[in-house]
Amino acid sequence: MVAWKVAESLERLLAQLNALAPHRSKASDGSIGDAAHASRDSDHNPWLVLNDQPLVTARDFTHDPASGLDCATLANDLWWNKDERIKYVIWNRRIMSGAGGPSPWLWRNYNGTNPHTKHLHLSVVADARCRSARAWILDGATSSVSGPAGLPQLEEGDSGPAVLHLQRFLKRYAPSYAGQLVADGEYGPHTIAAVSEYQKRLGLPVVGRVGPRTNAALWQAGYRG
Ligand SMILES: [Zn+2]
Repeated sequence: MVAWKVAESLERLLAQLNALAPHRSKASDGSIGDAAHASRDSDHNPWLVLNDQPLVTARDFTHDPASGLDCATLANDLWWNKDERIKYVIWNRRIMSGAGGPSPWLWRNYNGTNPHTKHLHLSVVADARCRSARAWILDGATSSVSGPAGLPQLEEGDSGPAVLHLQRFLKRYAPSYAGQLVADGEYGPHTIAAVSEYQKRLGLPVVGRVGPRTNAALWQAGYRG
């Protein structure tokens, strides 16, 4: 009987996050399932066998923003980069499937008993790709913006990369808000409309420009500029 191991892709991500946040809490980290986890979350068990190697294809990463691992950022990075090794991600009452799952790359409500507010769950695909130890792209985790106050304030007439990043975020992270929005780096009528819709849904003053309160909400959603 060959001993189980955690899929190499997950071990690589763990190593990257530990390097980025060496003092982070690991209180809610986990790979192999305990009894409670096993009953609800089978990817924590070594049910996948590739070339006689039993593999665990899920890991939990503890949310510890004070020590450098903000799972909202991590979730946004995973969404943004759409790595083919992702089967699904659960974070903060939402679930997102990878390319092979239902509604790929869209965050959907997650109503499981554990809301996943203390850790992010990542399952990787059940094929050879999960054994790739290629580095994960973690733009946000290495962003120099350290809080919502560091995000740019934007309004009609602004243009450039900051507007482009905002548009991409609104389009792809929350497509229902984005309407006709084209990511062109120009803060025009469609950007105003998308920002207004975002503000309306969040109960913020609907002003169509991005100031501190909207940046705080965007930050909460994982946006890092
Ligand atoms: Zn889990």
